[in-house]
Amino acid sequence: MNGTAHVAIGAATGFIVANQFSSTPTETLVLVGLGGVSGLMPDLDVDGKLRNRITFSHKVIQSVAQLIGLLMIIYSIYEGSAANQYSGVGIGAVMLILSSLIKQKHMLMITGIGVVAGGIFLQEAWLILLGVFILVASYVSHRSYTHSILGVIFFGFIASKLEISLGMNGVYYACLIGYISHLIADSKLLPVNKRGIKLFLPVSSKEW
Ligand SMILES: [Zn+2]
Repeated sequence: MNGTAHVAIGAATGFIVANQFSSTPTETLVLVGLGGVSGLMPDLDVDGKLRNRITFSHKVIQSVAQLIGLLMIIYSIYEGSAANQYSGVGIGAVMLILSSLIKQKHMLMITGIGVVAGGIFLQEAWLILLGVFILVASYVSHRSYTHSILGVIFFGFIASKLEISLGMNGVYYACLIGYISHLIADSKLLPVNKRGIKLFLPVSSKEW
């Protein structure tokens, strides 16, 4: 299944969750967006070549990394206390330079490190965990750990922290069910999928 289909299914699950929680129109928009993004997350494990076709292009990931770096510099200058002003500007500058130099293969890893650094700097637990998720995904092989129950549990943990941070009902379920919808769409439950997903890694490599 391609990225667009995964986003569409994830967004639909976000919409269903919003209805269950009787969300306001704005909240519904947020939940639909989060469901769509979550529906794409398991495929952050594809290698550089595949990643170009399925999900994010090199240019997009590079721009995001540069934007995070730039925002961190601006935020540090205006909001940071004397001590973390320098470290914030430093982390931001390193991200800007690295994302301009590093090859496509390492772009996702750099983004993961940047998101972890940003999370530590902004003291947001979900952002730190999301950075760790991106880092791990950039190392593991395609359709392995991000497509397993272990991946679901880890992403669910990120979603629970995000719900607390946003203070919005339904965030946890929109993210979690959006993520699970990707695994179902990739599994042998659908007759069109010849390959399944290794749901019980690392205990078993059987494909479901
Ligand atoms: Zn997938």
